[in-house]
Amino acid sequence: MSTKEKFPLSFFSEINLKNPNLFLESLINYALDFDITDFHIEPFHNFVRLKVRKLGRLKYILNFSKEFFKKFVVSLKSLANLDYTKNFKPQDGRVYVNTKKGKVFLRLSFLPGIHGENLVIRVLNKKGSILKLEHLGLDLNSYKKLKEIKTIKHGLVLICGPTGSGKTTTLYALIRDLFSPQKNIISIEDPVEYLYPAIRQIEVNEKLTYFEALKSSLRQDPDIIVLGEIRDENTAKTAIRAAQTGHLVLASLHAYSLKTTISRLINLGVPKQDLLEVLKLVIIQSLDDVPCPFCKGKSCKICFEGIFDKKPNLKIFENFPT
Ligand SMILES: [Zn+2]
Repeated sequence: MSTKEKFPLSFFSEINLKNPNLFLESLINYALDFDITDFHIEPFHNFVRLKVRKLGRLKYILNFSKEFFKKFVVSLKSLANLDYTKNFKPQDGRVYVNTKKGKVFLRLSFLPGIHGENLVIRVLNKKGSILKLEHLGLDLNSYKKLKEIKTIKHGLVLICGPTGSGKTTTLYALIRDLFSPQKNIISIEDPVEYLYPAIRQIEVNEKLTYFEALKSSLRQDPDIIVLGEIRDENTAKTAIRAAQTGHLVLASLHAYSLKTTISRLINLGVPKQDLLEVLKLVIIQSLDDVPCPFCKGKSCKICFEGIFDKKPNLKIFENFPT
């Protein structure tokens, strides 16, 4: 167990607040060293506030000038090929950055507010690659169950849980496990969070809906279809039909229990009988806090407010009566 300081604020005493590129590089290095998942920059009347999210919690870091923030926004939007003259409309973007410490993929969200643009930077793909199932930190039983998905030829596997429960990480570890050059794997997501060049990744946008992408994917001779989310009737029904016609469909759903998962799909117009016929596995995922063993959860230099880490907790259901 590492006893490296988990959250050194001293890092920011020397942060460069003059050069936008150096500022960005510092943020990325900090994220890589200390497992930061998001940076939030919120504008106030005459300053902006930087916060970071780690282990699911937001923490205030420092305030800095609006002038520098404006420069930073222009520089970041240019990097992401966004129009920096448009500061009155929400904008989403992405950017790949190479630093000495590694390569990262940043997802950017700009949202205009009364005091200026709010910026959230999500740091993705920090590890540089997609995790293997054995590195997710699962208990042995869950690990074995996920390994068995390889033997399923067709049907529906659902990964459910709230936002931030690590569903996408689990989904990608699964895709990695299922991957073979003999299989055509198509993923449809909003947005694509992990880059996996070996599979075909399709991103939903204003011009391409989940349903359209799914319908077209079925004409691309797929073996496995991955749906980042099932949120409308057409997508739900088509996903079930795909599972009935010999495809393996892995999909993620915002639901918190087996009961709500089933009722969610029935409410989207899927006949219960059809659903139970194709449903192979329902995984309900949450992320549990691992309390700090050094201070017993009281908060110390090594942990973050008493939390040492997060650990996925999976409840897996199978064998649904038809
Ligand atoms: Zn502690």
